[in-house]
Amino acid sequence: MHKNFKNIDKVVFGRSSFNQLDSIIAEKRHDHNKYFLFIVDNYFKGKELEKRVPAKPEDIVMFINVDAEEPTTKLIDTIRDNILKSKGLPAGVVGIGGGSIMDIAKAVSLMFTNEGSSTLYQGLNLIKKPGIYHLGVPTVSGTGAECSMTAVLTGSEKKLGLKCEWTVFNQVILDPDLTGTVPKEQWFFTGMDTYIHCIESEKGSCNNTYSYAYAEEALKLCRDVFYNDGAGQNAVNDEKLMVASLMGGLSLTVSEVGICHAISYGLSKILHTRHCYSNCLVFQHLADFYPQGVKEFKEMLAKHNISLPENLSKGWTNEQIAEMAQVAYKLTHMWNHYYGADWRNKVTLDSIEALFRRL
Ligand code: NAD
Ligand code: ZN
Repeated sequence: MHKNFKNIDKVVFGRSSFNQLDSIIAEKRHDHNKYFLFIVDNYFKGKELEKRVPAKPEDIVMFINVDAEEPTTKLIDTIRDNILKSKGLPAGVVGIGGGSIMDIAKAVSLMFTNEGSSTLYQGLNLIKKPGIYHLGVPTVSGTGAECSMTAVLTGSEKKLGLKCEWTVFNQVILDPDLTGTVPKEQWFFTGMDTYIHCIESEKGSCNNTYSYAYAEEALKLCRDVFYNDGAGQNAVNDEKLMVASLMGGLSLTVSEVGICHAISYGLSKILHTRHCYSNCLVFQHLADFYPQGVKEFKEMLAKHNISLPENLSKGWTNEQIAEMAQVAYKLTHMWNHYYGADWRNKVTLDSIEALFRRL
């Protein structure tokens, strides 16, 4: 079976395209209880962008601090319950922020129309009804959350996305001006998420001409941003990284991610290490799986004076490592992509634990 994937309905790309937000949502304002919910990264509170959010008096503007933890099912359920109780169903949701806010906006949109806790819907195609209109404005480039079919949530049981066609944004506004203030390390780690998406997407059984074309173009852009002469954080590269993020996300949607993401998910679930940083911690140790990618990754680390800790696993208990391996083992589609259908003959809990012990 070939994947039949859902793309974003509409995309606008370009400097200052954020100014088009007001007119884009104008025609959607008549739906349901005729107001919009804006979910904005707390970083922008008090900044110039706050004044540019085109909120009307009836709208809700909610600032969320994403630093303490990655989006949780509890957070989504609470937002949904409080808003339905106070103002009823909004006409639409706008998320303005990095991958965390993208996922919160996507998940809230779905949970407005699907009863019960979001924990019930963590997995593939478990959502019963389409959500409400949702629009994403990414302000950090790299995760591909702006185009992916999943909204990753950490629940009491698992870290897993609400994954279905309805998760995908109806509209995305890609304004590279908004990413200019991202701190350097964040810029690097989140940008590397795209790089790793492409390397993993290309290497495995789900790779095909379509996913490969997206990955190659995204890798070319990543190299301009992080590797070639002229690399670094600047306006031209902000544009390139924003497009790379989108194309990397599309590549993995058509294909799949691989071993780095499987291990990274285990780390994030048990030790709450953040996704993009976690990927970097893992990827540096996977030269035997992705030789060229890891070599180039290390050169990019050096070029930007980013150092990553090693020997982390020395501080972990055997139980923690076993738990992480359990989480990683369950990501069957990632192992299947790297090793093929007979992956269970090649991957065991012990071999996964050994990968964690490399860290
Ligand atoms: P983030 O959204 O977690 O934000 C990281 C930091 O950057 C925060 O401190 C935030 O306040 C700050 N920030 C955001 N925009 C800024 C700006 N313009 N200027 C200055 N600071 C800014 O970062 P991220 O790395 O983009 O996202 C990580 C999240 O994305 C994780 O929760 C991960 O699970 C999720 N993710 C989702 C998918 C998907 O397909 N849905 C894929 C990969 C990762
Ligand atoms: Zn990723």
